Amino acid sequence: MGKDNTYDDVVAFHGHSCPGLAIEIKASELALRELGEGDGDEELVCVSETDMCGVDGIQYMTNCTIGKGNLILRDYGKMAFTFFRRVDGKGIRLVLKDDLKRGMERDAYRDYLLKSSPEELFDVKEPNEPLPARAYREASVRCSRCGEGTMETLTRNLDGQVYCLPCFREIRPQR
Ligand SMILES: [Zn+2]
Ligand SMILES: [Zn+2]
Repeated sequence: MGKDNTYDDVVAFHGHSCPGLAIEIKASELALRELGEGDGDEELVCVSETDMCGVDGIQYMTNCTIGKGNLILRDYGKMAFTFFRRVDGKGIRLVLKDDLKRGMERDAYRDYLLKSSPEELFDVKEPNEPLPARAYREASVRCSRCGEGTMETLTRNLDGQVYCLPCFREIRPQR
């Protein structure tokens, strides 16, 4: 990804330009610099303490996504992001400094964020929680009626047979 294009690319991904996106880009830059690019065994994990703008900036920049299970949202309403490197558990927690905005309008604030270095914007702290466990892939079992694989926790047992929910409803209609 060309450095100059980064912001435009992320804006295209996100759908609009906003201070939140700028904050996430800067947090991601610092995390990538400290922990590496994050692929394969070097996978990064992010715990975000805000759900601002869907954390699209983090998802785009670091490849930590909700779908992959390596982006965890904790809606604490804090502008804080903890990044871990899976392979050795090294982690940093980035907390946006207070009073950066100083009455700036939204666009001026966004521009100020984008031209600041990450170190000017974030306090770098120790993680306050352990490295999250890997996303758990649940075993699939075969429904004894339709024969289709189904997540085990969503099956029902009846007379020694395992059923998916649609089949279970077929053989035991609800009142
Ligand atoms: Zn936004
Ligand atoms: Zn079935």
